[in-house]
Amino acid sequence: MTKVEEILAKLVAFPVLGGESNLSIIHWIRDYLTDHNIEVRLVPNEEGTKASLHCRIGPAIDGGFILSGHTDVVPVKGQDWDTDPFVLTDSNDGKLYGRGSCDMKAFIACCLAVVPDMTGADLRKPIYFAFSYDEEVGCLAAPELVKAISDHYQETPAYAIIGEPSMLEPIVGQKGICIFETTVNGSAGHSSRIRQEVSAIHESARLVLWLENKMNELVNRGHIDERFHPPHTSIHCGTFKGGIAPNVIADQCSFHWDVRTIPMDSADEIFKEFEAHCRERETELQKVFPGFEIKSEKHHPVVPHLDTSEDAEIVKIIKELSQNDQLDTVSYAAEAGQFAEGGYPAVICGPGDIAQAHRANEFVSREQLAKGVEMLQRLVDRLS
Ligand SMILES: [Zn+2]
Repeated sequence: MTKVEEILAKLVAFPVLGGESNLSIIHWIRDYLTDHNIEVRLVPNEEGTKASLHCRIGPAIDGGFILSGHTDVVPVKGQDWDTDPFVLTDSNDGKLYGRGSCDMKAFIACCLAVVPDMTGADLRKPIYFAFSYDEEVGCLAAPELVKAISDHYQETPAYAIIGEPSMLEPIVGQKGICIFETTVNGSAGHSSRIRQEVSAIHESARLVLWLENKMNELVNRGHIDERFHPPHTSIHCGTFKGGIAPNVIADQCSFHWDVRTIPMDSADEIFKEFEAHCRERETELQKVFPGFEIKSEKHHPVVPHLDTSEDAEIVKIIKELSQNDQLDTVSYAAEAGQFAEGGYPAVICGPGDIAQAHRANEFVSREQLAKGVEMLQRLVDRLS
């Protein structure tokens, strides 16, 4: 095994899922960095059960590069694995199997493997590591980590590279994601009284259709961005709960919906319009049942979109570093939007294929892993 593969094997052996304590893996990474004489800062959650990590290698000078990764992975439950998902397994087909081998411990392993090159080089500009937790359950830790970096360092890093699997293709755009929950309170009664009562289910169904119509309206108004698939903002209702029996009018119904925005649209705008529509419905239906109510809340935090200009300096640089000219966009969520929002122009570029992520027999090819190391070595060369 090469050094990066050995490190990846260590990382994969920590079965830290999104939402769980990541202290085991983050302490291992901290100790590895400390052994290389790097000063490490942990950014714990309130309960002290999880922590992100950041550190600087090189001088305290403006213009450095943040390398970002997450330490958590998605569950393996119910998946049909051929190998132990938490033992990195070399199946002699050029692929290394294991949960997180691709998403995204591969990039963290590359970062750690290149540490000796970084500390050994005479860096003119610094390199920062920013490793988070709970990315897989909604990019929960990134906002605090970004803030901790801004607050802690007197100098200002210039760019962020988020090493999500992209086959080392630079990704300059990502959709924003917002999740909402809406609860409707109607009046209960015998189902035969549907004309006299207000069914929370019927009203919720109308609201879901309103949301779908809103999506179609945006498309019809030409809100199209061909860089994304689908090329428009999507609005979708994913859970719908209410009612107790076929013959009882439901007095409660709630549903979750998500909005995945292209950069030209705003989830907050859509939400505002939805709320205005809800107030109209309330006024109308309170004539039938005075207690009728629709309440919605936004689930925090939201993932902002990423829209790095193709002419941005970081894009030119990442093309050189990755030796890939092809720019792409993705529809999945990553921490790139949060770094960009925090003032660090960001791109996603990391080893492995996102198609392998989150499924059984996830793997990273040894070739991608080696190329990931080469990309970071080129970064070191560029900065020395
Ligand atoms: Zn990931």
